[in-house]
Amino acid sequence: MWDYREFLGEVLIDSDTLQRRIQELGEQISKDYEGKKLLLVCILRGGVMFLTDLMRSIRIPHAIEFMAVSSYGVGGRHSSGQVRITFDLNTDISEWDVILVEDIIDSGHTLHSVLELLSIRQPKSLSVCALLDKSERREVEIPLKYIGFEIPNKFVFGYGLDIDDFYRNLPFIGVVNLEKYNALIH
Ligand code: 5GP
Repeated sequence: MWDYREFLGEVLIDSDTLQRRIQELGEQISKDYEGKKLLLVCILRGGVMFLTDLMRSIRIPHAIEFMAVSSYGVGGRHSSGQVRITFDLNTDISEWDVILVEDIIDSGHTLHSVLELLSIRQPKSLSVCALLDKSERREVEIPLKYIGFEIPNKFVFGYGLDIDDFYRNLPFIGVVNLEKYNALIH
């Protein structure tokens, strides 16, 4: 594999900025969900880093859960619309106030399907906390209660987000220089 610096276009959000914003989100969630039975549902795998920092910034008792979905069709860097659950929750969510924790909302199709699938299970409430919002690309309306950062229409990586499964470990959000990256892999 390559050193990420070989294809890093720019650092879009540095680690300190990420952490400060996540702290704010955690404080807001702590206020909004005081006295409630809060369950954070992390969508694997991109949401993992965000979840672990977010839960440390939430001051009220809460539980966590994980689920994984895969898009039918195109896959990779574009989502097709419909999703299928490949790893399901182990909790009956009907007793819980659920927040879905997502890395990034792009077209919105993935989350739209996940929200539909979870609504059927009748949680007490269901809302979304997304670290990144590429709103320019939205094709379906998504009710986002918490947003970390609004970002431009660029392919980003790091802090949980991958490029071909790698580079999720980086502590910042970087923009991929696709020309350089494609030249490396071909
Ligand atoms: P949507 O269904 O909203 O179009 O796509 C959401 C999923 O696409 C995200 O959960 C993420 O896996 C992937 N995705 C969208 N934009 C990016 C991006 O800029 N970088 C990476 N690494 N993944 C992205």
